[in-house]
Amino acid sequence: MAHKYLSKIVVIGSLLWVGLANAQTPLGALDLKTISQGHHPLKFESPEHNSLGSSVDLGTPNGLVNGSQLVVKTLQTKSGAVNLSFADMIWLSGDFIGEPKQIVGLSSDPATTLKNNLNGYDKYKEYLPAIKRIFADMLRDTDANIQAGQALEVPDDYNYRYNAATGGWGGAVGAVLKSGLYLKLASYNYDHFGQHALKTYITAHTLALELASKANTAAELNNAYFVEGYADHFLTDLFAAGHLRTPRAEVVNYCANLPQGLSSFLTKLMHDQDGTTGLNIVNGRGETWFGAGDNHYYTEANRVNRTRAVATLQQSVDQIFAAYQTRNANVSANSRDMLLSLPDPSATLALQQNTETYPPLYKVMSGANANPVINVYNGKAKGYSKMKCGASSITAIWNYVFK
Ligand SMILES: [Zn+2]
Repeated sequence: MAHKYLSKIVVIGSLLWVGLANAQTPLGALDLKTISQGHHPLKFESPEHNSLGSSVDLGTPNGLVNGSQLVVKTLQTKSGAVNLSFADMIWLSGDFIGEPKQIVGLSSDPATTLKNNLNGYDKYKEYLPAIKRIFADMLRDTDANIQAGQALEVPDDYNYRYNAATGGWGGAVGAVLKSGLYLKLASYNYDHFGQHALKTYITAHTLALELASKANTAAELNNAYFVEGYADHFLTDLFAAGHLRTPRAEVVNYCANLPQGLSSFLTKLMHDQDGTTGLNIVNGRGETWFGAGDNHYYTEANRVNRTRAVATLQQSVDQIFAAYQTRNANVSANSRDMLLSLPDPSATLALQQNTETYPPLYKVMSGANANPVINVYNGKAKGYSKMKCGASSITAIWNYVFK
């Protein structure tokens, strides 16, 4: 029993210790993802992202090719050539490769911020061989869960291995002391939530449509699919219930007095709650369906949501091929059509069925001088009160270790 908690307690102990020693870094780079996982994964884990990518077929000049088979980028590394398939792009983008702190959702020039993230594929290419090896191990470890339609349980150890493979230190304590690219990206993963995810998807899908409309060769079309793969990571995040209404960036801003590692616990708590109970998801057309979150992707309860996610992903890649064939990016009509199919974070947040059955743990309210204030739901009192960041984060940590 005790050892089950030990690694988490070690992480939290080191986190607090490092926090006292140095409130800026590396604690600032510590995120939920270090301290989550196990029974409480942060989000749709990579296997779900990967299997979504393998569930669609992409149009090419030589006919349809499955997303797991179409190589969209080849990078020369010291350990040899690395081929990235379209499906690889979906699980890698934003979670493993990107540029930390380049947040498309918060950017006034999202197209440039997106390119800074895409440049990460060249800049950090030497990490790719190890990331792909660890990922193959992870798929093997989670396969039994997936086949049985159970919730995924990805051991904590994978986080430490990914951290070590991307320039950080290994082990639970090492992860706290030195973040690699993996944990740096997780620490600022605001783009993976709500409206930020939507903006990131649309920005990248727009670029992919434009590239496809100008492509003359199969290689140029593959480059459009490379960018589309980046976009579709965020498309698939939107089908994870824990990503739709968790005010990820807002809570970190509101609790700016806390080290970021601690305030990240707060958003993790809500993310896990919505991911576990699930939500009624609303799309741009006003259709609603039930979706579970995160590690529940393969469960029976999530079947309808899974079907919706695959169909919407297929719609998105079909637009890319149509842009190539017609030489017309058709950005506004295409974006409008995608927004009809995609989960709408605001409508999902506002849906009365959700506020009654699954009251959001945090609500963003407007406070004095239009500064947002975070209110917290109290299950016993069945009401909201203003968040006290310090006390709430201790509750969140308690929950993480013991629940
Ligand atoms: Zn994500």
